Amino acid sequence: LVQLSMPLNFMGMIYREIKQALIDIDDMFRILHRNPEIADRPGAPALAVGPAVLRFEDVHFAYNPDRPILRGVSFAVPSGKTVAIVGPSGAGKSTLSRLLFRFYEPQGGRITIDGQDIAAVRQDSLRAAIGMVPQDTVLFNDTIGYNIRYGRWEATEAEVREAARLAQIDRFVAGLPEGYDTPVGERGLKLSGGEKQRVAIARTILKAPPILVLDEATSALDSFTEREIQDALDRVSRGRTTLVIAHRLSTVVNADEILVLDKGTIVERGDHAGLLAQRGVYAAMWNRQREADAARQALERAAQDR
Ligand code: ATP
Repeated sequence: LVQLSMPLNFMGMIYREIKQALIDIDDMFRILHRNPEIADRPGAPALAVGPAVLRFEDVHFAYNPDRPILRGVSFAVPSGKTVAIVGPSGAGKSTLSRLLFRFYEPQGGRITIDGQDIAAVRQDSLRAAIGMVPQDTVLFNDTIGYNIRYGRWEATEAEVREAARLAQIDRFVAGLPEGYDTPVGERGLKLSGGEKQRVAIARTILKAPPILVLDEATSALDSFTEREIQDALDRVSRGRTTLVIAHRLSTVVNADEILVLDKGTIVERGDHAGLLAQRGVYAAMWNRQREADAARQALERAAQDR
C-alpha cells in the first residue's frame, strides 16, 4: 500500500501544479480575448510607429448582427494627447479598446495608427505598441517583482524599483515580508484592487509604449487610493497618446478632449469646462456623480470618526 500511495501522492501534487498552470493560462486568454478568427494577412508588415496618432474613422461594430454597438464612431487622439471616452454603462466604451487591440474587427470603417490600418499590420507589432492598464489586473503566481518586470523582461533591478516608485507601489512593497521577492497571486499574498492596478501601472511604465489605453476600474476605491492611482496614471500618460475608458468621471477632468458615447454614437465632445457649459448629457452625468461622491465621502468620514 505504501508503494502505491507514494506515486499517488506525487500524482496529486503534479495534478495540482497542472491545474494551477491551467488557471494561469485561462486568465491569460481572458486578458487577451483571443479570437482565432482574426489572423494576420499573408505578408502583413509590422506597424511602423512615428508620432503615434490614433484615429477611429466611421467605425461600425456589433458582437451580434441584430444588436449594433457602435454606429459610426469617428475621433482622433493627436500625438501625446489624452482623449477620454465617457457614457452610460453598456454604451460600448470598452468595446473601443477591444477593437483597438484587434480582438474584434469593425464591420465598417477603420482604425489607424500613424495612417496605417491596424487590420493590415502584424498583430504582435500592434500589441507591442500599445500599453494597457486594464480594469482588473490578473497577477501571476510569482513574486511581486516578477509581476512588475512582466512589462519588460530585460529591465534592470533599478528600473523595476523606479517604475514601482512612479506607480506609487514602492512603499507597499517595502512593507512586505520579503520585499520584491514576496509571492503574490492566488497562492501568495492577495492584493487589493487598487494595489493590483498599481502593479499594472508599474508594468506599463516599464513597457513604455507609445500608445496607452487606461480602462479605469469600475469598482469604487476609497478617495485616498483613487487620488494616488490618479497621480500615477497622470504620470504614465504624460506625453503619450492616451485613450482613457472612463467608467467614472473623476479621471477625465484634465483630458484634452472628452467624448460622450451614447447608444453607439458620439453625442457630445469637448473639454470638461466646455461640456459642463453645454448642460447636456455630460453635465447631467457630472452632477449625478458629484452627489454620489459627496455621499460616499460623508460615509468615509463617519467611519473614520467612529
Ligand atoms: P461599462 O461602463 O458598464 O463597462 P461599456 O460602455 O464599457 O460599459 P462595453 O463593455 O463596451 O460597454 O459593452 C457594450 C455592449 O456590448 C454591452 O451591452 C455588452 O453587454 C455588449 N457586449 C460586450 N461584450 C460582448 C460580447 N463578447 N458578446 C456580446 N455582447 C457583448
